[in-house]
Amino acid sequence: MTEQAPITSNFIREIILEDLKTNKYQGRVQTRFPPEPNGYLHIGHAKAICLDFGLADEFKGHTNLRFDDTNPSKEETEYVESIQQDVKWLGFQWDSLFYASDYFDQLYEWAVQLIKAGKAYVDDLSADQIREYRGTLTQPGRNSPHRDRSVEQNLDLFERMKRGEFPDGSRTLRAKIDMASPNLNLRDPVMYRILHAHHHRTGDKWCIYPMYDYAHGQSDSLEKVTHSMCTLEFEDHRPLYNWFIEQLGIFPSRQIEFDRLNLTYTLLSKRKLLQLVEERHVNGWDDPRMPTISGIRRRGYTPEAIRNFCNSIGVSKTNGSIELAMLEHFVREDLNKRAPRAMAVLRPLKVVIDNYPEHKVDELDAINNPEDASAGIRKVPFSRVLYIEQDDFRENPPKQYYRLSPGREVRLRYGYLITCTSVVKNEKDEVLEVHCSYDPATRGGNAPDGRKVKSTIHWVSAAHAVDAEVRIYETLFTKEDPNQVELGKDFTSNLNPNSLEIIREAKLEPSLATPQVGARYQFERLGYFCADPDSKPGHPVFNRTVALKDTWAKIEKKAPVDPGRGRPA
Ligand code: ATP
Ligand code: MG
Repeated sequence: MTEQAPITSNFIREIILEDLKTNKYQGRVQTRFPPEPNGYLHIGHAKAICLDFGLADEFKGHTNLRFDDTNPSKEETEYVESIQQDVKWLGFQWDSLFYASDYFDQLYEWAVQLIKAGKAYVDDLSADQIREYRGTLTQPGRNSPHRDRSVEQNLDLFERMKRGEFPDGSRTLRAKIDMASPNLNLRDPVMYRILHAHHHRTGDKWCIYPMYDYAHGQSDSLEKVTHSMCTLEFEDHRPLYNWFIEQLGIFPSRQIEFDRLNLTYTLLSKRKLLQLVEERHVNGWDDPRMPTISGIRRRGYTPEAIRNFCNSIGVSKTNGSIELAMLEHFVREDLNKRAPRAMAVLRPLKVVIDNYPEHKVDELDAINNPEDASAGIRKVPFSRVLYIEQDDFRENPPKQYYRLSPGREVRLRYGYLITCTSVVKNEKDEVLEVHCSYDPATRGGNAPDGRKVKSTIHWVSAAHAVDAEVRIYETLFTKEDPNQVELGKDFTSNLNPNSLEIIREAKLEPSLATPQVGARYQFERLGYFCADPDSKPGHPVFNRTVALKDTWAKIEKKAPVDPGRGRPA
C-alpha cells in the first residue's frame, strides 16, 4: 500500500487495547465485514471495511468476509461477486470467506436447545398481532397466548415449521425474554420466520429463515470474532446479541457500534440506490454519479484516496454528515501525486498562428508530472492551427481577465508566447476563429528579454487532435440532504437534472488516443479525468473525476479540522 493518512486513535481502538491489556481474548483481535448481498457496496461500506480490516491489521489480527445472507428474497449472486471485487479493489484481503447460511444447521440446533431450556416458543400470532402485542416505548407489551406452550409442543411445532407444513407468516419462533422490558428488542423477539423462498446457496432446503438478530451474534461467535463493529442503529440490539450468546454459553464476541457515514448531496442506502438503478435515474450500479464503490471506481477515485478519507473522518458515537467536498479533497490530493498530466480542450475554439509555417510540426517537451520527476517528459506536437478553450478567449475582456484577447500576449503551455491579432466572426457576431502571431524566440514559454505575460493557457494541435467524448458530472442531488422532501414526494424529486453533461466535441493531445480503461490523468487546468470502459480505440471517452478547484481547502482554512471528526468544527 502507498502512503496513508495517519490512523487517528478512536474509542474502538481504545476498547481493543483495553481487551488486549486484560487478555480478554488471549491477545487475539478478529473482526468481520458482514455485508448483506442485496446490493452493491457504497462509500459508507468503505468506512466499515477500513475499520474492520484496518483495526485487525494494526493488531496483526484476522478479518473474515461474511455474507449475511439470511434474507433469501432480496439476495443475489451478482451482489456476492461485486462485493468481493470491491473489497479487494479497496486494497483488503479477507482471511476467510463465510456465509451466514453456512450456519443454518447450527443455528437450528441452537434454537432447539433454547426451546428445550424453555427460552423459546412457537407463536401463532401474525406479524400485525405481534406488533400490536409488543406495546410501545411507554407501554409494556402483553404476553402472547401461545407463550406458555410446553417444550414438547414447541419442539413438535418447530420441527413441523422446518418440514414445511405451515404457510408463510403463519407461525414464528420467538425468544422468551420479557414482554415488559424497556428495550423493545427484548420483548420476545422473533428468531425464525416461515418463508418458502429459494436461497442463492441453500436452494430449497429451508423454508424457515433466522432473523438478523438471531443469526448475527451467533455467526460472530462461531467464527470467534472478538470485536464485531456495526453501525449505531444496532446499539439497542446489543442486549439481545449478548442474551443469545449467554443463553447458549458460546464464544463471547463483543459488539461495538459506531456512526454511519453520511455525505452531503449523497444517499447511502442500498434500497434507495437500487431504486435509482431500477427506475433508470442512473445508468446502472456503476454509473459514475453513484456513491457505490463500482461507481466511484469508474469515475476515477482511487482506493488510496478512499482509505485516506475513511481514516481521516474517524468514528464517533453520534451520527452526523461529512462534506462531499472533503472526500473530493482526498481524491485530488492523491491524484495530484500520481496522475500524469495531459492537455485536452473541452470546448474548442480554433486559433491560427499566421506567422507559423504551414506544414511545420514542432515536437515540444511536456512534463508528465511536476509532482513526480520519475514520470519524465513526453513530446507534444505543435503546429499552425490549434484549439484552445472558448473560455480562454474574450473579444471584450472584462477587468482582471488576463487570458487571450485582441492585442494581448499569453503563453501557450510548453509552447510559445502568442499575441492575438484579429478574429473571424459569423453573421451572428460569434467568434469562429482567432488569429495570432507567435514569437519564435519564446520556445518553451519564456521570452529572452524577460517580458512577462499574465496567463498560460492549454491547447491542442488541430491536425493531431483526438476526438473524444467527455462526461462532466455534478452531484446527483441538488439538496445537501437528499432525504429532505416536500410532503408526498420522495427523494427522487431532489435529483439534479444537470448531474451529467456530455461533451462530444472534445479535442485531446494525441498521446490520449487509446488510453487504458481506468487510466487517470490530470487534464491541465481542467481537473482529473478517467478513461471510461465505453472508450473505443482512437475515440476515447473520459469521465471527469473531480475538478481542480478545491472548495474543501477553503472550508478547511476557515474552520480547522477537528482531528477526530474531520469536518468543520
Ligand atoms: P444499507 O442501509 O445501505 O442497506 P446496511 O447497513 O443494511 O446498509 P449491510 O450490507 O448490512 O448494509 O452492511 C454491512 C456493514 O456495513 C454493516 O456492518 C453496516 O453497519 C456497515 N455500513 C453500512 N452502511 C454504512 C455507512 N453508511 N457507514 C458506515 N458503515 C456502514
Ligand atoms: Mg441491511
